[in-house]
Amino acid sequence: MEAGMNKPVVATIGDGTFYHSGVSPMINAVATGQDMPVVVLDNNWAAMTGYQSNIGTEDGEGIRIPIEKISHGLGVKSVKVVNPYRLKKTVRAYRKLLTASGVNVLILRAPCVARQPRTWDLSVQVRERKCPGFDGCERTCIEALACPAIIRDGDEVRINQEDCQSCGLCVSYCPSSAIRGNPLKIRRKKVGI
Ligand code: SF4
Ligand code: SF4
Repeated sequence: MEAGMNKPVVATIGDGTFYHSGVSPMINAVATGQDMPVVVLDNNWAAMTGYQSNIGTEDGEGIRIPIEKISHGLGVKSVKVVNPYRLKKTVRAYRKLLTASGVNVLILRAPCVARQPRTWDLSVQVRERKCPGFDGCERTCIEALACPAIIRDGDEVRINQEDCQSCGLCVSYCPSSAIRGNPLKIRRKKVGI
């Protein structure tokens, strides 16, 4: 509000950058009594710069210092860890975060799917019969998820099997239950997201 914004501003940061440069502004925000929702996208790697490990990476090397321990140590009001592939839980956690006062941290933690490529044959597909098409859908999976595997073919929405990593997000998102597959359950069993 002070800067002319009337919507909550969410400080969003990756796990690697949190360790490198996110901690000091958070100390400042706590010390000066700000209302600041913080979302940490924790995929276990510094993916942006080439998948280097960081001090939160679970790769068996060195001492791991989890983001939640640091956050609690800084005196933030609350810390919550959610698996972002559990879409409903994530939306609920976001809503709560936006209305909370003080500095509150939501850690969205799941290992990067690009580090655990799909090694099994599984197809996630759009059922034409149930999907009203790109123009008929109020907010398409293409717009909402920006997944490179979901493509538009005229008015049809299709999933490119070569690029799909079977994370399951589109299956939980589709408001018409038009995407077939239960990949999340299978992926969780195989690689643990
Ligand atoms: S399952 Fe995941 S990777 Fe595959 S199309 Fe859906 S959102 Fe994209
Ligand atoms: S979200 Fe579902 S209904 Fe909408 S375009 Fe995608 S598959 Fe079709």
